[in-house]
Amino acid sequence: MSSTGAQLTTLEAFLQGYPTIEYIPPSSSEYPAARKPWNEARLDNPLAVVKPRSPADVAAIVKHAKLNSLPFTIRSGGHNLEGRCVAQDALLIDLRALTAVTIAPDRKTATVQGGILQGELASKLWEHGLATPTGAVPTVGYVGWAMYGGYGPFSPHWGLGVDQIVGATIVDPNGDIVKADEALLEGIRGAGGLFGVIIDLTVKVYPLTSLLAGPIIFNPTDITKTYVDFNAAYEKLLNSEGLPRSSAGANIEEGKRWSEKIASLAPLMVNMVGSTTIPDWFIANGALIPPKIAGNGFSHNVRRIPPSVAEAIGRNLAIMPADRGAMVSIHQLRGPSAGPQDHPSVFATREPHYMLELLGFSTSGDEDVSRQWAIQTTDEIQQADPDNVLPTAYISVYNSAIQAKSTSEALEKTYGPKAQVLKDLKASFDPDSVFSLTVPALK
Ligand SMILES: Cc1cc2nc3c(=O)[nH]c(=O)nc-3n(C[C@H](O)[C@H](O)[C@H](O)COP(=O)(O)OP(=O)(O)OC[C@H]3O[C@@H](n4cnc5c(N)ncnc54)[C@H](O)[C@@H]3O)c2cc1C
Repeated sequence: MSSTGAQLTTLEAFLQGYPTIEYIPPSSSEYPAARKPWNEARLDNPLAVVKPRSPADVAAIVKHAKLNSLPFTIRSGGHNLEGRCVAQDALLIDLRALTAVTIAPDRKTATVQGGILQGELASKLWEHGLATPTGAVPTVGYVGWAMYGGYGPFSPHWGLGVDQIVGATIVDPNGDIVKADEALLEGIRGAGGLFGVIIDLTVKVYPLTSLLAGPIIFNPTDITKTYVDFNAAYEKLLNSEGLPRSSAGANIEEGKRWSEKIASLAPLMVNMVGSTTIPDWFIANGALIPPKIAGNGFSHNVRRIPPSVAEAIGRNLAIMPADRGAMVSIHQLRGPSAGPQDHPSVFATREPHYMLELLGFSTSGDEDVSRQWAIQTTDEIQQADPDNVLPTAYISVYNSAIQAKSTSEALEKTYGPKAQVLKDLKASFDPDSVFSLTVPALK
């Protein structure tokens, strides 16, 4: 019998004792869908897929894996850009049944289970008049988003996802369910997947009952000029009156005035900003994201977007492949997370910056074209103003396989001076590397 055949037989014998764990072997008709991450270019076939229903199920699976030297990966939303929640012949532990949310009596924190998606979490909080920072795409896993950084539209007001984390429960490398101490929390804030299965995170939540949001679409006829002009006007606005931390928490009338001001920065097609709810806003955003996609994402953190960088971005917007998978997305780190924090973290890039997502994906099988376009855009931004590119990049979007020459270079690039903290924590907490197929990778 092959070694994977033997592993499967041992796994099936173990699962006899755990009927609550859903089991999807390669022979199942559900396997092709269950193995697929968001990035379909990842073709790895896992040994099997298991779906635990409780923290105790997760603990039992990790104990079994450790005892049998069985490599495994963890999946929640499946939106790692490189599809790294799946690995060839490794057991795939799909956490998506773990979605409980418990709001603390003082309504300042909520304990959120590790398999919940961002849209699900936002809906549950909204029912209670609460919110917490998230990104904009409902199907991204919340814990995967928050623990590696977590940029999003609420971050200028409340901070990054990583800065909301005040507690965590994990299944550790021995398969025990433990509360994270302060040392481990520092590592979880920035690199959580390295140390265990995050069963839950306790995160800050905030009262919120109204939301003003929506797209502002500028005239794309001469998209290079539109983008360059918009960027110049936006920089001027930042340098003159500045922006409010965000419209969250402010009144709707003030928010409308700001949306009109932003809409006036370049030739406008339509301003669709209006009153909505977070659940409806997520539904609208979700409709824009292709369900099937393949390719590669790339990233730079840049201090500013000076005219030379805006021209490099604008030039490449004009030749962007006509494919829903090709995108440029720009997040600005400003507000409470841009600077020193009360809670230590291994998240490296604290100075104010723009995190650029240069997405070379395709929905139609043309991923080579999209990838080449994204690589060219990434290179031209670097060449336009090399000193403006920060030494550290964002782990969730940086392409560790293409942008770095080795795993250790990728680790230095994404964690900078915090890389050593991570290595030390890993050596003391998981010396046998039970969690080996992780984000970030150490080997
Ligand atoms: C369409 C899209 C939009 C995005 N938008 C943003 C954005 O606006 N802002 C932003 O900052 N990022 C964004 N990202 C990046 C995204 O936040 C990260 O890729 C994130 O890690 C995805 O989490 P996931 O659970 O969906 O991924 P998965 O692929 O399921 O997980 C990735 C890895 O995280 C680890 N992991 C996840 N959950 C757990 C857990 N509970 N316990 C232990 N380890 C775990 C595992 O190592 C796993 O392999 C986006 C990505 C996509 C594809």
